Amino acid sequence: MTMTTNAAPILPAFAATEGRPTTLGVLGGGQLGMMFVQVAQAMGYRTAVLDPDANSPAGLISHHHILAAFDDAQALATMGRLCDAITTEFENVPAASLDILAQTTPVSPPAHAVGIAQDRLAEKAHFLQSAGQPTVDGKGLASAAGVGPVPYAALVEHADLASIDASLFPAILKTVRMGYDGKGQVTVTNQGDLERAWESLYKAPCVVEKRLDLEAEISVIVARGHDGVCVHLPVQRNTHVDGILARTEVFAGNVDAALANRAQQAAIAIARDLAYVGVLCVEFFVVKTDTGLDLVVNEMAPRPHNSGHYSLEACDVSQFALQVRTMTRLPLVQPRLHSPTVMLNLMGEVWLNTGELRIPVWDEVLALPGTHLHLYGKLEARAGRKMGHITVTAVSIEQARDVASQVQAILGLWH
Ligand code: ADP
Ligand code: MG
Repeated sequence: MTMTTNAAPILPAFAATEGRPTTLGVLGGGQLGMMFVQVAQAMGYRTAVLDPDANSPAGLISHHHILAAFDDAQALATMGRLCDAITTEFENVPAASLDILAQTTPVSPPAHAVGIAQDRLAEKAHFLQSAGQPTVDGKGLASAAGVGPVPYAALVEHADLASIDASLFPAILKTVRMGYDGKGQVTVTNQGDLERAWESLYKAPCVVEKRLDLEAEISVIVARGHDGVCVHLPVQRNTHVDGILARTEVFAGNVDAALANRAQQAAIAIARDLAYVGVLCVEFFVVKTDTGLDLVVNEMAPRPHNSGHYSLEACDVSQFALQVRTMTRLPLVQPRLHSPTVMLNLMGEVWLNTGELRIPVWDEVLALPGTHLHLYGKLEARAGRKMGHITVTAVSIEQARDVASQVQAILGLWH
């Protein structure tokens, strides 16, 4: 599984003289897999998607779609045979499947890192370790120390209830596994309500997190190569509605420069300490303290992230191109933001709000300057389901915001 650092890059090949077409595989067929497939294909790679849904967004557009469960041994063998390198778009893919694939095919991110990101307790333990250990290694990472996780306690068995510190309340109770888009989370006002809240989550292993007053939410997307080289996108500033990302803004000055720098260095340290290879997103909370603003780390995603979709149109290298480059050992170059940008998520409500199901007036949206429409081709619009997004690019953030407001008015978006 350990890769040598100077192995040759996996170049796109498809002409008759170049041998068999180079094929890149992805576990998971959602929208992140879809955009990965689109970018990989544009670069000349064939693609293979493993997903059990016949209508998965990525499966529908990939050269190969292996229609099977993520732990199906035969399907994993087929992926291994077809692919020159494999990645994932989905953190809940069984870590064991990544291990099996890694026996025959280069896999990134590594199974152990995905395993940690799947488990909120293991993830927080990693953040603590990464924040606490000396990070001076000649690469200027010393300032990463000190960005620790939100104060928390584990609630795994009944006996834990009595030992949860009162200072953590009001708290958010989160399942250790399988949560996403705010699912598997409940707010708990005081200690007396904790047991009932835990029962509402079927007493699954949980983490009790102090609910913080958030000044802002930001995220950093880093890409780390087999040789340890790291590049990152500019810091994203995110707005969530009901626990789901609604809006991302990126422009020079969207976050205080010192804070942004600390977040970037912390994200790089977190990736480095995981011996990570691939694209990693780290979410941070900005909180107010007596002395000013401070950062805490919320969670990480071992894949491209919704808050990085803007990079397709607003940067010269997108998060999906970085995913291709890390898995194929192509050079990593620092992405450059060339347009201030606002990204708006399109949830199922855009279709449902109209009262009757009808096609939203995309023509009116696309009449506005700098709008880029992405629809994922999901067959059913449901409340809270991510159906697509719109990125607005402009010469200034004021102009991008102005167009974004017009998009919101046309589509009846609330954020
Ligand atoms: P998910 O895996 O669903 O993204 P998160 O832990 O990132 O779960 O929580 C989703 C959102 O809920 C966050 O982006 C933030 O807006 C809010 N949230 C989560 N934890 C806290 C907290 N400890 N304090 C305040 N807000 C929180
Ligand atoms: Mg999150």
